[in-house]
Amino acid sequence: MKLFKQANVYAPEHIGVKDVLISGGKIIAIKDKIGSLDESLVEFIDTEGKILVPGFVDSLVHITGGGGEGGYATRTPEMEIQDAILGGVTTVIGVLGTDSITRSLENLLAKSHALEEQGISVYCYTGSYHFPVVTITGSVTKDIMMIEKFIGIGEVAISDHRSSQLNAQELSRLASEARIGGMLSGKKGVVSIHVGDESEELSLLHQVVEQSDIPITQFYPTHINRNRSLLNAGIEFAKQGGFIDFTTSTTEQILAQGEVCAAKALAECLNAGITINQLTMSSDGNASLPVFDLQGNLIDLQVGRVTSLHQSMVKAVLQYGVSIEDALTSITKSPANILGLNHKGRIQVNRDADLNLLSEDNLNVCSVYAKGEILT
Ligand code: ZN
Repeated sequence: MKLFKQANVYAPEHIGVKDVLISGGKIIAIKDKIGSLDESLVEFIDTEGKILVPGFVDSLVHITGGGGEGGYATRTPEMEIQDAILGGVTTVIGVLGTDSITRSLENLLAKSHALEEQGISVYCYTGSYHFPVVTITGSVTKDIMMIEKFIGIGEVAISDHRSSQLNAQELSRLASEARIGGMLSGKKGVVSIHVGDESEELSLLHQVVEQSDIPITQFYPTHINRNRSLLNAGIEFAKQGGFIDFTTSTTEQILAQGEVCAAKALAECLNAGITINQLTMSSDGNASLPVFDLQGNLIDLQVGRVTSLHQSMVKAVLQYGVSIEDALTSITKSPANILGLNHKGRIQVNRDADLNLLSEDNLNVCSVYAKGEILT
């Protein structure tokens, strides 16, 4: 057992100073004061000068690496466990991307098991950018029902020169397959959507929602801060009840080309009246961050970082005036709810003991606990 003594707790709502007791990988008690514990059985954790917050949920990481848009030499490396530890991330969603030929779902699953063995929690999407989709069992529904780690499909690319240019009917079919797989296995069957910078923006999603019975909440579009116009389209999508996700990995060059940094996008959406339950940030860790010129030639390529998730949360608070509660919610409770991870994203009795101690003054990550164990 571990006892976080008199911790200032953001659950992510601020619930004040509490004793938080964890055991067997779970949070087992949260009380004003927990007394009379056998001291030989309990490790007491000092929380002086720190705040206790949920472990971060990063809803999009290319854990087996990604990219290659500039040829084989530009394939990006796998995620290392150290990236998660440095950034306070205790749950990641692993995805394939543009390359589903040399990166496979089998490899994605193997890497997710490896990261689990190293201490964090990992879930995955079946499929990739492309249509027809890659699967393990031959069916999206079957993958989600039969393979525990698969909680949805994605990131399916739309409005992007690297997408399969799929139409509304094809996307409806995919979404219903994911939805049914989710319904039958107690998962959300999320359809993660990679949105590129073509002018169609989110129109395909609107078409699917209008033409079918698939609810708007089945979709989880990401990279919505890619440019000003897409951010505006995202705000409209959210006003209709949809979820939107902002990408925290970026470069100076990408920002100079018009990307709105994730922290700023979060603040703007909150100011526009979108509820924090609909807003999330993800790192797009280990993705390639290609920059193309107007002719479509690749002119720069960097690698996404998982640690940018935490940095953007801090930036949202310190630079853009977002409350600590809202900034934390966008990388804990909101993604956990959207993904249907009921045991993640909150400091609450019976949830997993995924916890971060952050320094009170600058929100730096001091220590990370995943399923009750400290990660080092
Ligand atoms: Zn993407």
